[in-house]
Parts: sequence; structure tokens; C-alpha cells
Amino acid sequence: MLVQTLPDAITRLSQIGDVTHFEPAGDQPQSERRRIPYQARSLADCITNVSTPKGKKPLLKTMVTTACERNCFYCPFRAGRSKTKRVTFGPDELASGFDTLQRSGQVEGMFLSSGIIKGSVTTQDKIIDTVEIIRTRYNYQGYLHLKIMPGAEYDQLYRAMQLADRVSVNLEGPTQERLDALAPKKDFQHELLRMLQLAEQIRRTHPYEKLAGTVTQFVVGAVGDTDQELLSLSNRLYRQYGLTRAYYSGFSPVIQTPFENLPATDPLREHRLYQASFLLRDYSWKVEDLPFLSDGNMELQLDPKRAWAERYLRDAPIEIMTARRDQLLRIPGIGPVGVDAILKARRQGRLTELTHLRQLNIHAVEQVAPYILLDGRRPVTQMKLFS
Ligand code: SF4
Repeated sequence: MLVQTLPDAITRLSQIGDVTHFEPAGDQPQSERRRIPYQARSLADCITNVSTPKGKKPLLKTMVTTACERNCFYCPFRAGRSKTKRVTFGPDELASGFDTLQRSGQVEGMFLSSGIIKGSVTTQDKIIDTVEIIRTRYNYQGYLHLKIMPGAEYDQLYRAMQLADRVSVNLEGPTQERLDALAPKKDFQHELLRMLQLAEQIRRTHPYEKLAGTVTQFVVGAVGDTDQELLSLSNRLYRQYGLTRAYYSGFSPVIQTPFENLPATDPLREHRLYQASFLLRDYSWKVEDLPFLSDGNMELQLDPKRAWAERYLRDAPIEIMTARRDQLLRIPGIGPVGVDAILKARRQGRLTELTHLRQLNIHAVEQVAPYILLDGRRPVTQMKLFS
């Protein structure tokens, strides 16, 4: 008699491979991208080196199920796509698979996403059940990043935030109109934006509890979304909803989806969006400061800080000896650490040459030179380098 044994969790994880290719999880999302997405099938494809707030770690990036009842136009897991292998894990099975990998030292954390089956609430329960087992039965204290399903319940969001280090509520588009064009069954305000609002409300209601930070993802460039739309919303999320970070994932066509013939988004656009997003989040820039062109997008060829400086500082350079902190932060090539070094150094003496900036570990002085005055004069080497 032929006895068939069920494949264990590790084998099944290996079979689905790189299923979260399109969902970044860490602080350097572009380095997570594989060259050939969602093709190979091996355990190694489920494990990605991810920059987390706790350092760079190999994470198991996987899904509770690769089946989905929704039909987002860009997504390989959309309902009815026959090329997608559908695999569903039970919470015990997935938790045990993670525990095996974690104990053997192959992974140091998990990013857990899912397609939606039997509604968002049921699916969210499966995600939560899985990590409850990981935290309680296996007593795992390390890094967990969970996806929040569109329209999950308040208590589910709260519990997920207690269990995880990070939770993702992916908005996908910057407005309801853009979302309709990307994912016709998702409701921007009630299913998605509201989740981010609730997450911030939960953090404020429980100020002494250790709760997950929230992140979101946008699919960029498939449906006419502009940089201005994406960054205006990101700024609002940083200011009002305590968002940790926004991910900008350039659209990439997937065969056998309605968007299979659309062009992929230039990776440089993603890069510029991240640069601008950090100016809003970390450099106190306002959306109005960003150098948008008349079509609402930014120049691809120049980073936004330099594009702004070209517009405003070429003819009105900033005096390094007297400028305020926020003014110094506007200079391309000088970041918060460099600004602190300048403020300290100028209390002790005059900064009159580019070599003085080099001594403060501001190395890209050729980037800085066109936009500054040093003690009333344009830097001498500026003439040599830029004339
Ligand atoms: S709900 Fe998520 S998994 Fe399902 S089709 Fe949309 S993006 Fe894909």
C-alpha cells in the first residue's frame, strides 16, 4: 500500500518561495528586491536580509495564504490567476515552521503577510493566531512584522500591535480614485486610512505600552499617481498618524493580470520618492518646499534637495558661520550630523575653507561648495570645480 505523507511546513514554505517580493519589510527596501521575482522555489527564496530597527537580520518573509478573494489589478495573488500556486498554512503549522528555522539559526525574525480568504477579519485572526503561538508557545522574543488586512477590527489591530514590532497597513494608492484604479475592491478611507488612524489612536491611548510602529506601502506609477499626491499624503501620515515610514514600490507588471502590458516604473522614481520622503520626515521640510514640476512629479535626474538648492541657493548661498540649523539642513551634502558638527565648530572658531568642513567629516564638499559662503566669501575651490 502506498502511504503518502503530508509535506512539512518547511517543505511547503520552500514550494512557495519568494512570495513577498513585492512587499518591502525593512529600512532599506530597495536592497530587498530580488532580480528575478517570484520564480525560484526554494527555502532560501523565503529568507531575505532585511534592515530592521534591531539591525540587519535574515527574515522569513511569507504569507498565511497565497489565495485571495480580491482582484487587485497589479497583484500575482489576485483571484482567478491560474499561474499562482495557492498554498495555505494553518497557524500551528506556520508557527512550528518558523520555530524550526529560528532555532536552527536560519532566520532571526519574520514578516508575515497574507491574501484574503473568508474576509479580512478571518484572515487577520489567522495571522494573529500564528504569532500568538510563536510568542507564547515558542517564547520567541525577536522581530516580527505583520500585515494588517484592509478593514480588520480594532481589537485585532491592537493585539497585532502588542505582538509585533511593526505592522503594515498598505494604502497602495494616495487617493480613493487612484486606489479604485489599482484595487477596485478596496475602500481607501474606511478599510485602509482608518486603520492607520486607529493605530495612532491606540498608541495614544496606551502611551506606556510597547506597541508596534506602523508603515504603509504605495504601488507607484501604474495609474497616473503623482509624486505630489504620494508625498502630500505621506507627510500627513508622518505628522498626524505617527507613521514610521512609507514604502514606495515602483510598479512592476505581472503576467496574467490586467496590468501585464503596462510599463514598469523607473526605479529612479522610487529612489527620488524615498529621498523626498526623508526630507519631510527627518529634515522638517514642508511639502511646498519640494521641487515639483508642473505635472506634480519631481525631476528624475536631480535629487530633490539638490533640485531645491539649484533653484534657491545658487544665487543666494547660505552663510555657514551664521545660518540657523534648519537653513544648514537645506544644503546638499550636509545632513543632521554634519549640521551639529558645524554648529559646535563655529562656536570655537571661524570656518573659512572647505578643508575646515572636511575636518568635520563633511566629505562631499564639492556638492556643498556652490551653495554656501564661508565667512562672507564663496569657497575658493568652487571656482575651480564649478566655473
Ligand atoms: S488583497 Fe492583497 S493579496 Fe489580495 S489581490 Fe489585493 S493585493 Fe493581492
